[in-house]
Amino acid sequence: KKERTRKPDWLRVKLPIGENYKKVRSLVDEYKLHTICQSGNCPNMGECWGAGTATFMILGNTCTRSCSFCAVKTGRPPEYDEDEPRRVAEAIKLMQVKHAVITSVNRDELKDRGAEIWYQTVRAVKEISPETTIETLIPDVKANWDALDRMISGGQEVVSHNMETVERLYRKVRPQAKYARSLEQTQRTKDAGKRTKSGIMVGLGETEEEVFKIMDDLVAHGCDILTIGQYLQPTKMHLEVAEFVHPDQFARYEEVGLAKGLKYVESGPLVRSSYHAERHVNV
Ligand code: SF4
Ligand code: SF4
Repeated sequence: KKERTRKPDWLRVKLPIGENYKKVRSLVDEYKLHTICQSGNCPNMGECWGAGTATFMILGNTCTRSCSFCAVKTGRPPEYDEDEPRRVAEAIKLMQVKHAVITSVNRDELKDRGAEIWYQTVRAVKEISPETTIETLIPDVKANWDALDRMISGGQEVVSHNMETVERLYRKVRPQAKYARSLEQTQRTKDAGKRTKSGIMVGLGETEEEVFKIMDDLVAHGCDILTIGQYLQPTKMHLEVAEFVHPDQFARYEEVGLAKGLKYVESGPLVRSSYHAERHVNV
């Protein structure tokens, strides 16, 4: 068992150092923002922050859900911060990024699922950085389709909603979500005229066939872009890694995904939803 869960070489990453990294870090602190890079213990912080980019997480850092793979803390979140959209927009402007990725926790307790803050945030970024393209990685709105409409109507170029894993593993991995509902959310996002994206993790015990099935389902529901990355256990309290998927298998997933009709597939051990996001804004 030790062998199976020891990190292979292809998951080794560079240390986070350098001027850009420090600049991003001080902006995040100064503007009292949260990032999924930090909250999710992302292994790519050296690369992304070193390149001057980060993924902001809005609506606080306490999530109403408890997905078993995720390092974000679960609980009842405090009132949301109405000034957050402005601070996110200012930080993005100062970072001078061409493409910004924004995500949020789930706020199931809010009637609008946080849609208004989402809308205000995207508007605020567009107002002061009109050239900056935006990807919003949005939560499951739990079939509140009015909330979805508001959430995606601020002018963002890409709307992403992660399936996270194959259908069979939902109860274990994403207990408060529903596979069909997340597919429907993607379909509705597509119907609203947005470029759509989703992401899954592998190494959770899924089979290749099941990954092919989720690709088919995503294509059938209007998904344009797919990211596939290795699941890494954030702490001993989280779900164990079932397998370290070989880079060749990631390459195969990419090839098959494209053949199935996805417009862009970013697949590799260290790929995260927001990884290299600037490469597929215009697919
Ligand atoms: Fe942050 Fe995404 Fe880069 Fe990870 S891949 S460091 S979450 S921007
Ligand atoms: Fe983490 Fe998102 Fe699940 Fe919340 S909904 S626990 S932030 S993956």
